[in-house]
Amino acid sequence: MIAQEYKKMLGAKSVIREMFTYGTERAKEIGKENVFDYSLGNPSVPVPEKFTKKMIELLETESPVALHGYSPSLGIDSVREAVAVSLEKRFGLPYKKEHIFMCSGAAAALAHAFRAVTVPGDSILTFAPFFPEYNPYVNLTGAKLKVVPPDLKGFQIDFEKFETMLTNDVTAVLINTPNNPSGIVYTTDTVRELARIMEKKAAEYGHEIYLISDEPYREIVFEGVDAPFIAKYYPNTITCYSFSKSLSLPGERIGYVAVSPSCNEAETIVDMCGQISRGIGHNCPASLIQLAVADCLYDTADLSVYEKNANILYDALTGMGFEIVRPGGTFYMFPKAPEPDAVAFCKRAMKQDLLLVPGDTFGCPGYFRMAYCIETEKVERSLYAFRKL
Ligand code: PLP
Repeated sequence: MIAQEYKKMLGAKSVIREMFTYGTERAKEIGKENVFDYSLGNPSVPVPEKFTKKMIELLETESPVALHGYSPSLGIDSVREAVAVSLEKRFGLPYKKEHIFMCSGAAAALAHAFRAVTVPGDSILTFAPFFPEYNPYVNLTGAKLKVVPPDLKGFQIDFEKFETMLTNDVTAVLINTPNNPSGIVYTTDTVRELARIMEKKAAEYGHEIYLISDEPYREIVFEGVDAPFIAKYYPNTITCYSFSKSLSLPGERIGYVAVSPSCNEAETIVDMCGQISRGIGHNCPASLIQLAVADCLYDTADLSVYEKNANILYDALTGMGFEIVRPGGTFYMFPKAPEPDAVAFCKRAMKQDLLLVPGDTFGCPGYFRMAYCIETEKVERSLYAFRKL
């Protein structure tokens, strides 16, 4: 018999992917320029030229046997070292190579982090609205994903609900700031309070509670926004980072796990990641890509278009009467639907060729997500469709 667990998942395909597929088909009928596709978080700006040049240089100068050989299971030493130095320089925590595990994007980083600190039956607590892939990411480890209801005022944290749900079976709390789908960034006060409650509960239960911080949008923070580095506030922090959005490289599958130097058994957790890889086959990201990103650790793609789009949309949509918590980063915003059923609203939007994703997918019905990683000119043209809608 084939594995029923995965077979069952076929019936519950990603709404976002389906919306994107619809958009692609619709574009064939009316032209791509006339479909206002806010469905998918695919970066819309090119990778920095420096990255491309480094790739060419590596291909032209390095020994092909070494360059295309297997990388060590924890990542190339010089790359791990460079990542640790960059984190120490930028955030002031004493990371060493031994705290870094190179892997294929945030998805892989999370897959390793979850397995390192939970056993089947444990719970991982996260906060709505949340990235829907957390469901398969967590459920297929045997742990259980529990979701704290949203703080609808500002998409920070409802601490009363959090504290009630932080029960003895929770071994990890999963956060994502800057956040997909809300676009908000946790304030320093939020992070401090989160850490205080987690420390109190860990002491009460007599076991560690790890903070897994999913940070693919760390570099996409808008002007003047307070964006604390999470690991500074809670010792048992495992940071899951990706270059997918900061360097516009989602297809290259590259990121890392950084275990805080103050974390309990930090170096052992990193070594364990090398063993976890053996089990899940998510191992040894391409040497070429590791070496190229190591040259761009202080660079980003030109991310300015995201803030520009955010400002245009926020001003125009709030002007039309939409209620929106102003995003502090990412390329997402999460307005309230003007009718209780956001699924019905998003269907209505499709008639104007506006592709929006209902908040139900993110554990937050009544809202919808817009991924505004599209050309500004298109954002501006889409406002007419919004007005009609
Ligand atoms: N976490 C969040 C919140 C995301 O939005 C994404 C991708 O969109 C991921 C993780 C996975 O990112 P990656 O491409 O690095 O695997």
